[in-house]
Amino acid sequence: MKFGETFMEYLHGEQEGCLDKCAHVEYKRLKKVLKKCRSQGPPSTSCNDEQQQERDSEQNHSLSQVCHCKSCPLCDQMFFSELMREASDIAGCFSSRVRHLLHLHVARGMQRYKLRLRQCFKNDQQIMVEEGRMLIEYVTMNAIAIRKILKKYDKVHSSINGKNFKSKMRSEHMELLQSPWLIELGAFYLNFDGIDGGEFSEFCSRFSCDLRATEPVMTLMLPNYTKLEYGLTCAICLEMVFNPYALSCGHLFCKLCACLAASVLVVEGLKAASSNAKCPVCREAGVYTNAVHMLELDLLVKRRCKELWKERMVAERAETVKQTREYWDLQTKYAIGY
Ligand SMILES: [Zn+2]
Ligand SMILES: [Zn+2]
Ligand SMILES: [Zn+2]
Repeated sequence: MKFGETFMEYLHGEQEGCLDKCAHVEYKRLKKVLKKCRSQGPPSTSCNDEQQQERDSEQNHSLSQVCHCKSCPLCDQMFFSELMREASDIAGCFSSRVRHLLHLHVARGMQRYKLRLRQCFKNDQQIMVEEGRMLIEYVTMNAIAIRKILKKYDKVHSSINGKNFKSKMRSEHMELLQSPWLIELGAFYLNFDGIDGGEFSEFCSRFSCDLRATEPVMTLMLPNYTKLEYGLTCAICLEMVFNPYALSCGHLFCKLCACLAASVLVVEGLKAASSNAKCPVCREAGVYTNAVHMLELDLLVKRRCKELWKERMVAERAETVKQTREYWDLQTKYAIGY
């Protein structure tokens, strides 16, 4: 089946689901725009003569020719702005829904969370798992739709604008499959593993993780057999992330390491970071204030690598106490000196 049809089928099925209020990629409409453009001929008007001549003289390479004209007068205005808006709506909808779903669990504290999972009615569990499944379907189907439509754009225009737009989306953190909430959902399913008798194992098996590897990783298999890998190594301490936070740029760090990088005390937390503080990996500024505390991922590490988790927790506590003591010593010194 062509992707367009698969996507339509998905949207149709979704109409009765609870995501009908969420934004979706207007795949059909965007495709129509491209079709119209193609039927009206290539947008040679935006190529200046010089480029045209250049192309003529290189006709032997015509297949590999890429038109670098800045824009297509027929499509661009609508195409890219609309796609960006849709992607941003989808990302917003996805993260708020996942946040809500996972909040039901973790907010009550880890111990009670586990108890709750064991005791809660089968139905409750089923509803949570089902909603998570829908959310993953939602974000992956739309992400694939965006990739496909951008590819089509480039094909119709023989351009690389679509590809460039994809990089732009990534740099503005609109790349749906890079959302830390997707990693959280993955951890959520991996945490289910073993509690439930494997009724959802078919879906859960899309996620796997190897936490004992030299470079711990979580893997998600998409419906179209694309494999996504999420590295779980902290770029600062070079160990598996502990008590992890995802900065807005998408990079994951231990809380302790992120606080160190942002020059804030652990007790103050990342919210206290200055807006100038940069991510140590990509050097982007202002990425700390909206950092996502990844509780499901933390729980996953705790359950799968108990000893390591305990060790790290003791170390984190010791560091917190040490920092606090130093802080107060300093305050007292100031007070006495004054
Ligand atoms: Zn066009
Ligand atoms: Zn670290
Ligand atoms: Zn970063």
